[in-house]
Amino acid sequence: MSKARDIFILGLRNAHAMEIQARELMERQSERMDDYPEVKARLQTHLLETKEQLKRLEQCLSACGESSSTVKDTTQSVMGNLMAMGHAMSGDEILKNTFANNAFENFEIAAYKSLLALCRIAGVEEARGPLEKSLQEEERMADWIDANVEKVTMAFVEHEQRQAA
Ligand code: MG
Ligand code: FE
Repeated sequence: MSKARDIFILGLRNAHAMEIQARELMERQSERMDDYPEVKARLQTHLLETKEQLKRLEQCLSACGESSSTVKDTTQSVMGNLMAMGHAMSGDEILKNTFANNAFENFEIAAYKSLLALCRIAGVEEARGPLEKSLQEEERMADWIDANVEKVTMAFVEHEQRQAA
C-alpha cells in the first residue's frame, strides 16, 4: 500500500505539472486566436476548467499530506510556452495547435485514468470524485477537438484565401 501511495503521489505531482503546461499552452494560444472565435471560446472554457483541475489536484495532494512540485511545475510551464511559441512561428499555427491539443487532451485522459486506477490501492478513495470530474472534462474537450478537425481546417483555408484576395 505504501508503494502504491508513493506512485499515486508522484502521479498527482506529474498531473499538476501537466495541467500547468496545459494552462500556459492554452493561455498563449487563446491570446492569438482572434481569427477563429469558436476555437478561442472553447479554449477559454477549457482554460477555466483547467484552473479548477489544478485546484482539485492540490486538494488531492494535501489529502495525502503532500504539496505540488515547484521544479516540475516550472519546467512544464516553460514547455507549454515554448510549444505555443514554436507553433506561432509557423504559417499554419491553427492546425498545429489543433493537432497538439488533440494529443495533449488524450495524454491528460490517460494520466487521469491511471490516477483513478490507483485510488483504491493507494488508500485515497476521497480523490476519486474530483479526478473523475477532471477526466470527464478532458474527455469532453478531446471529443470537441476530434469533432472539429475538419471544420477548423476548412476555416483555415478560407482565412488564407481571404488574406490572399
Ligand atoms: Mg486538464
Ligand atoms: Fe485538458
